Amino acid sequence: MQSHSSAKPQKNSALLRAPAELRHEIYSYLVPDHIHACVQGDKLHLSTCVVGRIKEEDDSKGAMLPSSNMLDGYERQPKVPLHGDHDPVWAPRLRSTWGPHWICEENTLDQHSEGKLDLALLLVCRDMYLEVVDLLARTAVFHITDLETANFLHERPLLLCSMQLRLTQLSITLRPPIKFYQSLERPDDDTTMEPELASATQTWSRLGSIIRQFNRLSRLWIWLDHDDPCSWSLVNERATLQPLITQLSGSPNLKISIYLPRLHPKYEREDWHYTSETPTPFHLHRKLRQRWHGVEKGQGRFQVIHKVDFPFLIDIIGFDEMSMVEVEEEERKGWRKGTDMELVVEDLNHANIHENMHI
Ligand SMILES: [Zn+2]
Repeated sequence: MQSHSSAKPQKNSALLRAPAELRHEIYSYLVPDHIHACVQGDKLHLSTCVVGRIKEEDDSKGAMLPSSNMLDGYERQPKVPLHGDHDPVWAPRLRSTWGPHWICEENTLDQHSEGKLDLALLLVCRDMYLEVVDLLARTAVFHITDLETANFLHERPLLLCSMQLRLTQLSITLRPPIKFYQSLERPDDDTTMEPELASATQTWSRLGSIIRQFNRLSRLWIWLDHDDPCSWSLVNERATLQPLITQLSGSPNLKISIYLPRLHPKYEREDWHYTSETPTPFHLHRKLRQRWHGVEKGQGRFQVIHKVDFPFLIDIIGFDEMSMVEVEEEERKGWRKGTDMELVVEDLNHANIHENMHI
């Protein structure tokens, strides 16, 4: 990216001679309000986020996630579905580490995508560059989807005219392997970790301190999941989040919302999880997990599988018209009575299949 210092002053520009309010109004039409920042190689790439504006129904100020409770991965299927034991489109989408921002990842990787952020405006001249950078930092939600980018923003304080130090809204979406969370439970034992995993856990362990550097930040959203079809509830949420929360406890004006998958009653533990009874120093939102997964079958082949995490009843006819809260409560009643609701749903599905076969 061209440095602002090489942009020439444009004293005769009609835009620059216009009143500041009018200029800002014009800029606001040209710069997006949700931006992905992503490190590729040694460079920071910015692209427009195409899902960030869809409001999260639980969080009227949120605007960071698709709102539907039923975004379970099925919606990532290409318009013309593929059949067979190798799915080169749907399966990779389901494996996206960008989670609900999978389409933003596709746009970022696509050189010709309209999602590419056109920063030509920044390069017109130095004054305009400074004004637009300032506007971006004040008004846009910056989305990052990996810890390498968080580290990069931290280590390059002069990046984009230190825009990151003036950020006001940051959204972090992470979908690492489950072993990332397992390694956070024993942070001192990094001798056997792969270098990439060790680096990610080290960055996570000081993420709160990194975020505190952005001292104008007023809003932080964190979205977490892992990429394995097994239940989210095998993750120790408290061990994962406690260091971050402690490091951010000195920022009382920072409003934090954390999005975690719904807890599976079979694995739920008070000492591991933020259960509904536990008060939290952040706004906790529980979301439905992906129910479709892309799994690697070896030799570069990928397959789509259907593997459900709690709640299971929403796949059963009759429950699909109830609200998520009602389904969850209904299913929890069963678990509380000692019934394995996963097995019950499995049996009901088998019964339905046999019934349909007789028709
Ligand atoms: Zn996005």
